[in-house]
Amino acid sequence: MAELEAVIGLEIHVQLATKTKMFCGCELSFGDEPNVHTCPVCLAHPGVLPVVNEQAILYALQIAAALGCEVAPRSIFHRKNYFYPDSPKAYQISQYDTPIAGAGRLGDVRIHRAHLEEDAAKMIHAGESGRIHGSSASLVDFNRGGTPLVEIVTEPDLRGAAEAAEWARLLRETVRQLGVSDVNMEEGSLRVDANVSVRPAGTETLGTKTELKNMNSFRFLQRGVEAELERQRRLIESGGEVEQETLHFDPQSGSLTSLRSKEEAHDYRYFPEPDLVAIAPTEEMARTARESLPELPAARIERYVGEGLARDVAAVLAADPETAAYFEQVSTDVSGVEPKVVANWVTGELAAALRAAGGGTAAESKVTPAALAELITLVARKTISHGSGKTVLAALVEEGGDAQVIVEREGLAMGDDDGDLESIVAAAIAADPAAAEQIKAGNGKAIGSIVGAVMRETSGRADGGDVNRLIRAQLGL
Ligand code: ADP
Ligand code: ZN
Ligand code: MG
Repeated sequence: MAELEAVIGLEIHVQLATKTKMFCGCELSFGDEPNVHTCPVCLAHPGVLPVVNEQAILYALQIAAALGCEVAPRSIFHRKNYFYPDSPKAYQISQYDTPIAGAGRLGDVRIHRAHLEEDAAKMIHAGESGRIHGSSASLVDFNRGGTPLVEIVTEPDLRGAAEAAEWARLLRETVRQLGVSDVNMEEGSLRVDANVSVRPAGTETLGTKTELKNMNSFRFLQRGVEAELERQRRLIESGGEVEQETLHFDPQSGSLTSLRSKEEAHDYRYFPEPDLVAIAPTEEMARTARESLPELPAARIERYVGEGLARDVAAVLAADPETAAYFEQVSTDVSGVEPKVVANWVTGELAAALRAAGGGTAAESKVTPAALAELITLVARKTISHGSGKTVLAALVEEGGDAQVIVEREGLAMGDDDGDLESIVAAAIAADPAAAEQIKAGNGKAIGSIVGAVMRETSGRADGGDVNRLIRAQLGL
């Protein structure tokens, strides 16, 4: 049987960080007492009318601009009808066939659409502790009901679980940097559903998909998709067929359980919302949204790659705007050092030194960009060895200050004239003739003991590469 390739499309709900709800003046606030942020509109009392939150539209336009989506000159709201206690109106105000944003792209993934809607209230399944007449009770907190959401729907362009999680991270960083959402997965302000199918590699027709609901971390998203791909592959390879259904992934047990067979659009009896006017953003509004965009991670990654950085290193730096700014400041402050060398210091040595000292980001650390730039320049000029550079960096992480001052205080500068080092190397060779013979006989590892002796003699100031070179030269190799 041909290999089965993964096909994945994501639906991402982004809670907008507006001050008030989508259609009423209730405050948005996470973690308060239940049911304190409610009013007749979001509790669906008879006779009330919704009024659209203009800020939510502006935020949606910014998301559309960041994803390169076409903005609809006119889009309307629809009622999506369903019965469940999280929706007091018994419908959700959403968008159906005229979303505010159409086709776009982020990285390698095409965006199908993005639309505005309101969030449902939060159900709390009280379980054993909340039994009423022998059945377990569920409670409803209406604080969340009516929170503005943008739902972003991708095309099924993702080809693996890890790729899906990585792209979802890029999307989160992008939305975070717009400042339109908290994008906190644990608190539910970013929620990801994954649509998953498989098909014989090299074919075009889509297989039957299942939908994995609401994974609340990128790790669980990846593991859930992995488990579902595995399940579908086994099913098909043993002659079975995938059934279209909605699944829940339990990260604890790793199991997938069916929530329901998939409902179709017609089950919701969508119809145009009669109580709201159409959204018709002016060209001016769309342009303002485009022009207000900061440089976003995807563009920053490309710029860094263009400057010679490896893509994975570029992605690490670009993910966080403060780290990116830090890296760029160091790159500006060094002299005669390439950006990729600076990038390696920031993501490698500095990150390791910060971890060793208990964590924190480069930007928050005591190591100023100027100090790191000086340190990198000292190493690049071979004023100090790379090993000494790490010593200085550890000191900078602890106490801040100036690299040159620490180099002088610790006496880490390599001798100015190579003559010194040459005579130390010569002495080390003379002191260990057995090792010298082995090196000459082709035993590369034997050089270690002589290098070690030179390093001890120079208190680690010498550059390992130079020492190696000098030893080989003096042995006539
Ligand atoms: P539905 O009608 O079930 O809501 P849509 O066509 O609207 O399905 O697509 C919803 C999401 O599912 C989109 O992200 C889309 O890319 C993805 N998707 C659609 N078909 C498949 C498939 N066969 N395999 C994987 N993902 C799919
Ligand atoms: Zn309200
Ligand atoms: Mg759909």
